[in-house]
Amino acid sequence: MSTIREYVFNHPLFCHHDHHASFEEFDANRSNYTFQSLLGYAVADLITAEGPQAPQLPMDRARIAKLWPKIRATGYGRAVTLGCQALFGMEYTPENFDAITEALQASIKNKTAAEVYDYFVHQRAQNKWTIQDGKFRVSNTRITGTYPDSYFFAFRMDELFEMTTPSPIEALERFTQQPIYTLGQLVEALYKSIERFQATGKLAAIKIGMAYSRDLYVSDPTTHEAELAFNRIRSRKLFWDGIQQNSGAVDAKTGRLLGDYLFHKIIQWAAEKDVPVQIHTGYLAGNWGSLNGTKASLLIPIFEKYRSVRFDIFHASWPWASELGAIAKNYPNVWLDLCWAWAMNPSETSRALSEWLDGVPFNKIFGYGADTGLPWCNMGYSLQAKLGIARVLEEKISAGFISQRTAEEIADYIMLKNGEEFFGLG
Ligand SMILES: [Zn+2]
Repeated sequence: MSTIREYVFNHPLFCHHDHHASFEEFDANRSNYTFQSLLGYAVADLITAEGPQAPQLPMDRARIAKLWPKIRATGYGRAVTLGCQALFGMEYTPENFDAITEALQASIKNKTAAEVYDYFVHQRAQNKWTIQDGKFRVSNTRITGTYPDSYFFAFRMDELFEMTTPSPIEALERFTQQPIYTLGQLVEALYKSIERFQATGKLAAIKIGMAYSRDLYVSDPTTHEAELAFNRIRSRKLFWDGIQQNSGAVDAKTGRLLGDYLFHKIIQWAAEKDVPVQIHTGYLAGNWGSLNGTKASLLIPIFEKYRSVRFDIFHASWPWASELGAIAKNYPNVWLDLCWAWAMNPSETSRALSEWLDGVPFNKIFGYGADTGLPWCNMGYSLQAKLGIARVLEEKISAGFISQRTAEEIADYIMLKNGEEFFGLG
């Protein structure tokens, strides 16, 4: 093993993005964790391997056994192999499925959820800090479940950005316990909600995942235009050929106008409070996602307008990682984030990191985020990121571009320190 490889493999990581179950959710499911729970993202590759006639989910044991050999070379598949070998000393193969389930159950059996997370996330995957998505939501009855102290949270409410029914407005009314009659009150309720999460001391960022439901081109409506859209949505009115109905969804264009307006408002809140904004760009999880509208370059007018906001741009915008590199070189308010990218495509992500290091100051690169639901999945995704980072740094050293010492410093920053500085931790 090269010196830099050893250095990277022993280095703690900042996990920029995860969707872990809370301790309560984890405990409620304890007996159900099997070999299948190691698959993480690989389920999507199983479906792709099966072809267009495939039933979607659930993916049962026989289908997994049949399809697994076809996907074991992909990034998703290799993460499963890496994690399974490192944690249980076994190949992830159908013959071992029962033994893997047994080993997994044995590894959590006499541990509390807190101990399970500490073992897999902190000790084995060496994830020192985690930015957790999906728990600071206005729909939550509890503000969040229980997590390790090393977890901080991103506020997320994507339903605002493509609103065709008043249900997000009603959710904010319930959450703030105040009626919303006007656009101004809607914005106030949104801010009040975010600030309620912020008051916990655990708010790390605003997360925008709207690429899953719409494209990333955001227009800049006037308050008047947004008020008209708000009024139509609030009163549930649908106008078609002069026929007025009193229920149902409004047209997509109206929802989009209000959504774009609220997008600007939430970024303006982030600007005022100096809270970073994490945005999903690039490839979409699962299958059959609409990829066309997910390029980070669609957000250029936003980067241009909100110069004081710190944008954490996710997933290398894969497969548009080179474009994202050029954007981050040009816009000092854009940080590059490789969360989930190592799993989607390790080769292209290595190339992206190599290119970015050539073009962008390394304090602007975040090297890792597991982006997964269960703590043991972090093992494979962490190893995959370390392998990729080590390989890129080895290449740069052997090409004579950087010294061993510089490579170590780059590893320190892209693996941990950049995240700590960005989020004010450590
Ligand atoms: Zn995610």
